[in-house]
Amino acid sequence: MKVFEDWKITSPYGYRADPINGNQSFHTGIDLVKYHRYPIPAFIGGVVLFAGEGVAGAGFGGYGNVVALMDEKGYVHCYCHLDSVAVAKGQTLSKGEIVGYQGTTGRSTGSHLHYEVRSKDSPSYGYGSHVDPGKYLEALFENEEDDEMMKEKVAELESQVAALKGECQTLLNTAEAHVEQINALKALLTDQNVPEWFTKEFGEDALNGIVDSPQGPNLFWRLAAVAFRLRKNNNQS
Ligand SMILES: [Zn+2]
Repeated sequence: MKVFEDWKITSPYGYRADPINGNQSFHTGIDLVKYHRYPIPAFIGGVVLFAGEGVAGAGFGGYGNVVALMDEKGYVHCYCHLDSVAVAKGQTLSKGEIVGYQGTTGRSTGSHLHYEVRSKDSPSYGYGSHVDPGKYLEALFENEEDDEMMKEKVAELESQVAALKGECQTLLNTAEAHVEQINALKALLTDQNVPEWFTKEFGEDALNGIVDSPQGPNLFWRLAAVAFRLRKNNNQS
């Protein structure tokens, strides 16, 4: 089981021969071993519901010194047979923080950690509602990985959207510049009455008898002015 690969598993979750009386019974947790007094890290973060010696009838009878952590989903993680506990009720722990030290308190045949996950927190800290700890943790960690991947994907898409927005803005700016140029050209090509500068230089009636209606685009007035100036120069020479 990958989540416990650093541990020696001396007894898995499920049916087994009881180590004390030999009867077939259901093992409600998993027995893990490092060495006596090994500082045990929380497999998952949570709030400490219980820390101390389990008394019979309260959910931890025979479990010796116990730390019970409730995770975000409301599952209770029980670290049992501890030599001593390292936390107090009400504390919030992160994954990896030390909950206590491997021991053999309570109904135990040797120093080990009995790790049990319960799907309820009441009554008696969910006693009897155990799930397979390895499967539970693996599913939880897989979801965390999926969440991470999802976050990365979202970030990637957001940066793509930002880039597209930038490109759109550039295109809009270019389009606006084109519209301005087109309007300027339109203004050049739109018919207008005799411009003031033309009248000033050549008089109101300069085009009488030459064009039927003295109206034209800017270009027309400029060409007319050139023609008039050439005529004036020729007449002078
Ligand atoms: Zn056990």
